[in-house]
Amino acid sequence: MMETLELDAVVIGGGVVGLAVARALALAGHEVTVLEAESRLGSHTSSRNSEVIHAGIYYPNGSLKARLCVAGKERLYRYCAEMGVPHQRVGKLIVATRDEEVVALDGILEKASDNGVGDLEWLEARQIAELEPSVKAVGGLLSPSTGIIDSHEFMAALRRDAEAHGAQVALNSPLQSGEVLESGGFELRVGGGEPFTARCRTLVNAAGLTAQNVARSLRGLPPATIPRQYFAKGHYFTLSGRSPFRRLVYPVPVPGGLGIHVTLDMSGQARFGPDVSWIDGIDYAFDESRAASFYTAIRTYFPALSDGALTPGYTGIRPKLSPAGSPADDFVLQGPVAHGVPGLLNLYGIESPGLTSALALADLALET
Ligand SMILES: Cc1cc2nc3c(=O)[nH]c(=O)nc-3n(C[C@H](O)[C@H](O)[C@H](O)COP(=O)(O)OP(=O)(O)OC[C@H]3O[C@@H](n4cnc5c(N)ncnc54)[C@H](O)[C@@H]3O)c2cc1C
Repeated sequence: MMETLELDAVVIGGGVVGLAVARALALAGHEVTVLEAESRLGSHTSSRNSEVIHAGIYYPNGSLKARLCVAGKERLYRYCAEMGVPHQRVGKLIVATRDEEVVALDGILEKASDNGVGDLEWLEARQIAELEPSVKAVGGLLSPSTGIIDSHEFMAALRRDAEAHGAQVALNSPLQSGEVLESGGFELRVGGGEPFTARCRTLVNAAGLTAQNVARSLRGLPPATIPRQYFAKGHYFTLSGRSPFRRLVYPVPVPGGLGIHVTLDMSGQARFGPDVSWIDGIDYAFDESRAASFYTAIRTYFPALSDGALTPGYTGIRPKLSPAGSPADDFVLQGPVAHGVPGLLNLYGIESPGLTSALALADLALET
């Protein structure tokens, strides 16, 4: 018979959010085990994103996204400095390429200020040309607190930190199913090469794109509390050669995403994306035919983009809670008050700015 391990706190999912929660639980004195289905941490959304430290500009005032992004950004800059995580406060331009778009910048400025991001600066076309000579715009905003981060190094630091406080990470350990025990706590069945069963007192579901599947596999959790799930894929193309940009450059946002923008990785490589396409399941296939729409979108603010300069990069998938055409939902942190199961926290819809928010979100997770 398989032995049943007795564990204290279990976090399902070794992405940036699961690791940040594991670290926070470990710092709070819990004995934490992270169960990660894949052979590497952060194999899904946490390594398929823009790696931008967002300022907290666009989100509805008072939303968790706004609050956790603004608080998480400062925490993240401090944490990166303390733990030696590569990052850079490069700043970002939001540019209007037509006079009709300038009014949208007004709205962005107001929303940012409501969210506590008071450092945006108005730029005239001439100032943009000085800062980023290859960008064509009629006006814009500069966000000096936006930055970039090496997300893999961030996850490695969270893991080191959590392990230094007693946490353990089990790779190749997919949760297959679980049960809410009447006596309190949970019984978990874990698959992989060396399957095992375990009991724990505290359970955090940070399974990202499959958080709803994990929740559905927990017998005793009321199914009506599990939100619907939707997926919106984004493609990234990289720019061959040296980047002509020193900052991130974003057009004014489009429904469902932030528009095809320029980001830089820590090596200075420029990449464009992500676009938005709604899909039925988790499928990272790259659709190269999207290149045409990228060239068109990018040339509105970077007219010198030459034919053939874009190379297919990678895709990422946003865990959405509403279908195409609906306004973006907020992060959902569902604790016992919402679902009635003591000791269980489900995290749903942790799309952007989840990377920026991770440390602040982890603190809130402990209070939920
Ligand atoms: C295209 C795109 C661009 C983005 N850009 C940014 C950005 O620039 N800045 C920003 O702040 N945010 C950004 N985000 C958001 C950010 O990437 C996510 O919020 C964050 O990575 C989510 O982390 P996570 O840990 O919740 O999920 P994930 O990284 O998906 O981790 C979940 C983990 O759970 C594991 N898992 C799943 N099921 C099980 C199971 N049954 N048992 C065990 N393990 C399991 C998975 O293998 C996975 O490793 C972006 C997102 C996308 C999609």
